[in-house]
Amino acid sequence: MDIKQIIVDSPLYTKWNNKVEVEDENGIWSETDLNYLISSFKDRIEHYCTECEAKRIFAPDSGIYDTSSVRNSHYGQQAIRNKPSLFKTFRCSANPKHQILFGFYLDDSQLVKISEYPSKYDTVIENFNKYKKVLDNIQLKELAKASQLESYGYAIASFLYYRRIFEGIILKNFNESDIAEKISEEEFRKLRMEDKLNYVKEFLPDYFNDNSHIYSTLSKGVHELEENECQEYLPIVKAIIFFSLDEAVDKRNKELRKLEFAKKLNDINSKIK
Ligand SMILES: [Zn+2]
Repeated sequence: MDIKQIIVDSPLYTKWNNKVEVEDENGIWSETDLNYLISSFKDRIEHYCTECEAKRIFAPDSGIYDTSSVRNSHYGQQAIRNKPSLFKTFRCSANPKHQILFGFYLDDSQLVKISEYPSKYDTVIENFNKYKKVLDNIQLKELAKASQLESYGYAIASFLYYRRIFEGIILKNFNESDIAEKISEEEFRKLRMEDKLNYVKEFLPDYFNDNSHIYSTLSKGVHELEENECQEYLPIVKAIIFFSLDEAVDKRNKELRKLEFAKKLNDINSKIK
C-alpha cells in the first residue's frame, strides 16, 4: 500500500475502506486503520512549494484530528460528537510556514479525501511555464485545466482538453512541414485524427507512430468515450504531448542560442573593423 500516493496523488473525494491489512517486516499480516497510517506517515516527500516557487523537500507533521463536539440549534443543549476529520500537513525545508495540507474525513467505515491546499492546479502550473516559448496562453491554460480535471478524477473531461492540445500540436506540425502538393489547412482540419496523423507521419517523432493504437480513441465523439477507456489512454496521450513539447522547447532554445551567438559574432566583427 502506497500511503504517499493516497495522501498526495489521489484525486479529491476518493474513498477507501478504513480497515486495511498490512504486512510487517516479519511477513505477518495484521489489520489496522488507514487513517492511523496516514496520521503516522513519516517519510519526507519532494513537492512543489508555491511560496518558494521551486521544488522542495517537505517533512510531515504528525496528523491532527478534529473530533470535537459541537452544538446545533436543532438539537438544543445536547452536544453532538463530530465524525473525525484528519489533517495531514507537510512543511517546506526552506521555511516552516510554507505548508501543504491534505484533509480526510472518516465516514463510518470509509475514509474520504476531502481537501488539498494549495490545489494541484497551483502546484502544476509552474511546470508548464517552461512551455511558454512554444504554446500560446490559451493552450497553456488548457494544459493546466486538463491536469486539474485529471486530479479531480474527471477522466473524460481532461481527456478532451488533452485531445485539443494534441490536435494543436499535429496542426502545428502540418503547418511547419514541407509536404509536396500540401492540402489546405481547411481540408486538413476536416480529416479524421488517424488520417491527419498519417498525413504528417514522417514529420512526427517515432513515439507518435509507436502508439498509433490510441488514435481511434482520440477520434471518438464525446458520447462514445468511456471513463475507464480515457483513464487508460490518458498517460499515453500525456506522454506524447509532453514529449513533443519538450522537443519543441529544445528546438526553440537551440534557435535562440544560435541567434544570440550570431549577434555576439556580429558585435565582435563590427568592433574589429
Ligand atoms: Zn517553501
